[in-house]
Amino acid sequence: MIKNGLIITLDPERRVINNGSVLIEKDRVIAVGKTVDIEKKFKADKTVDATKKIIMPGLVNAHNHNNEVILRGLGVDAIREKRRKKSKYYWDVDLLRNLDKRVCYSAGMLCALEMIKSGITCTQNSHYINFHNNAIDGIAQSIIDSGLKTVLGRGCWDISGLAPEEYREDPRKARIETERLITKWHGKENGRIIIRAETSRLIQATDEMILTTKDVARKHNLGWGIHVVSRLGEHPVDPRRNDPSINRYHGRSIEYLLNLGVLGPDTLLIHCGPLITNREIAILAETNSAVAHCPVMNAWAGRHIITPVPLMLEKGVTVGLGTDGASTNDSQDLFQVMKFCALLHKVNLGDPRAMTAEKVIEMSTIDSAKALQLDREIGSIEKGKKADIIILKGDTHGLTPNLIPVKNIVYSAASGEAVETVIINGRIVMEKNKISTFNENDVIKKAEETAHKLVQESGHLDNNPLYLQPSPWKYL
Ligand SMILES: [Zn+2]
Repeated sequence: MIKNGLIITLDPERRVINNGSVLIEKDRVIAVGKTVDIEKKFKADKTVDATKKIIMPGLVNAHNHNNEVILRGLGVDAIREKRRKKSKYYWDVDLLRNLDKRVCYSAGMLCALEMIKSGITCTQNSHYINFHNNAIDGIAQSIIDSGLKTVLGRGCWDISGLAPEEYREDPRKARIETERLITKWHGKENGRIIIRAETSRLIQATDEMILTTKDVARKHNLGWGIHVVSRLGEHPVDPRRNDPSINRYHGRSIEYLLNLGVLGPDTLLIHCGPLITNREIAILAETNSAVAHCPVMNAWAGRHIITPVPLMLEKGVTVGLGTDGASTNDSQDLFQVMKFCALLHKVNLGDPRAMTAEKVIEMSTIDSAKALQLDREIGSIEKGKKADIIILKGDTHGLTPNLIPVKNIVYSAASGEAVETVIINGRIVMEKNKISTFNENDVIKKAEETAHKLVQESGHLDNNPLYLQPSPWKYL
C-alpha cells in the first residue's frame, strides 16, 4: 500500500485525491481512494508512506530511439548538413555501422537509467539501426535487465537517398526479422516488452515496404508506426534531404497513407510535421490514428514552425508526448518535455492558454498510453490496471510552496530531484532515488567507455572530440 499521498489518478473523472492510498497486489492496482476508506477494507503486507508526496501514473514516452543516447551531445548547435562534410549521406553512416548488439545493450541500459530516474515507466522505441540484425536484441535485453516497459518497433526502410545502398532492406527481410522479434520477445517479462511492426519513415519506404510491415502488424494483432512529415517542396538547406518520393504523395503524407489503407487506431504517426492540413487532421480524427509529438525535436533542429497540436486536440486526435531520441533532443527527461511543450505552444499561438499543465500531463500519461493502444493497462491509476506508478517528493525546493501541485509538476519540478520511487508492473524499480534492478554506476561507466570506443573506431570526427562546428572556445 502506498498511503497518505496526493494521488493524481488520470482516471476518466481526472480525480485528484488528497490523503489517498493505492493498494497493489502482484502487478496490478486493486484499490484507489481515501486512506481512511482503503484502510477500513484492506490490510497491507508492505506500506510505503507517501505523506507530503505526490502519487501519479508513471510517464509514458510516446516516441524515442533508445540507442541514440550513446551519441548524446554530438551535433547539437550545428547544421547537420554542414557538419557532415565528409559524409556522402545525411546519416553518420560510419558511426551507425558500429552500433552492434553490445553497443545497443549499453545504450539501452543508459537510456533506461535516465528514463526511470525521470519517472518514465514505459517508452516507445523505434529502432532503425539494423546494420547488424541482432543489434535490436541488445536493446531487448536491456529492457529485460532494466525493468523498464517498452514498446519496441523495428524501423524498416527500402529507399536509399538518405542512407547508403547497403542500408536498404528487402521488404521480405523486414517481414522475416520483424516476425523473428515477435516470436522471440513479444510479451516477455509479464508483458514488459511489446513488439510492434514499423516502417521507419514514409520518405524512405516503398508502398511495398509500408504494406508489408502493416500486414505483419495486422497478422499478429499488433500496432504499427511510421515517421511522417507533411512537407511541400524541397528541403530549404540540403538537397540531400529532398523527399525522394515527393512526387509520389505531393507532400500530403496523411492523405497518401489513407489511400494506402494503413491508418487506424493501431497506427502511430510520429511527428506529422507542421505543414499538416486541416483535411489531414480531420482524417486522423476520423480514422482514430494517433500522433507522437516531440516538441523538443522541432526546436532542436531550429524549425520555426511546429506541429499544430492544439488544433489536433480540438479536433479529437489522440496525441502522446515523446522525448524523441538523443540525437534530436539529447535529454531523455519527459518532465523537461512537458514544460517545453506547454511553453512552445503558448509562444506559437501567442496565448498562455494554448497548452495547460493538465493537458501536458494527460499527454504524457493516459494519452501516450492510448496512442500506443495500452490505455486499458497503463496511463492512469485505476483499479484493475497495471501498477505503473511514480512517487514524487512534494517538499523539494522546486515544488515549494506546493500550492497547486499539478501546475508545479509541469512548470517547476526538476525530475531528478522530485522523482523518488518508480514502480513498474508492481515491482519497485527505484526506491528513494536508488535503482534496485541494476547497478547504475556500472551502467554509466560502461556507456562512457562504449561511446568513446565507438567514436574512435569510426574515425569520423576529424580529430575533433567535440564534433561541433568551429567553436570560439579554446580547448586545451
Ligand atoms: Zn524518431
